[in-house]
Amino acid sequence: MTEVQCNTCHARVAGYDAVHFGSIGTGYRELCSRCFNEEVARRGQLKFEHVGFEPVNMPDAAGVKRRFHFLLRLLGDQVALEAFEVQGGERGGYEFQILDDAEADPFELMARLVERMRRAILLRHLADDGLRLSIADVTVRGRISCDLDSDYHHPMLVIDGREVSWEQFGQMLMTFEGWQFKLEIKDRSEEV
Ligand SMILES: [Zn+2]
Repeated sequence: MTEVQCNTCHARVAGYDAVHFGSIGTGYRELCSRCFNEEVARRGQLKFEHVGFEPVNMPDAAGVKRRFHFLLRLLGDQVALEAFEVQGGERGGYEFQILDDAEADPFELMARLVERMRRAILLRHLADDGLRLSIADVTVRGRISCDLDSDYHHPMLVIDGREVSWEQFGQMLMTFEGWQFKLEIKDRSEEV
């Protein structure tokens, strides 16, 4: 796992908990989420108290326990609460985000996000017969990620919390050859 030392409080935190903060003019610093949020709050003169939420386990549709980490990030006049899984020390699998005004209550945000996550991870879009993956019904929800192994900047899709390559997804669509589709893209903070 990548660890980063916070330039302000010197705590060692996981790479996914650190923010590369600054600008070309002032130089960059690595900050933990707490120090980052405190600095943004101070600059914006916001009333804000950081909360470091503990990870939460939640069973998905197949009964598999999913462990979610949380990050609270102050983004100027908004606050984002993110939930994500960690695979091999990095962010991977399911990811969720909720946005609100900077001075919103983080615990209330957490309650709303957890509700949304519960609904989302109980949905199944893929069917796996052990040999190949297929689209279980006629709707697919997921996240567009990047396939770092692809030479052509192909997307990597994350569906049901698992990575599905662009090629794999193309093969799945061939079950529906001749059908139509509607593709709608939404901001990461929206519920799909
Ligand atoms: Zn710190």
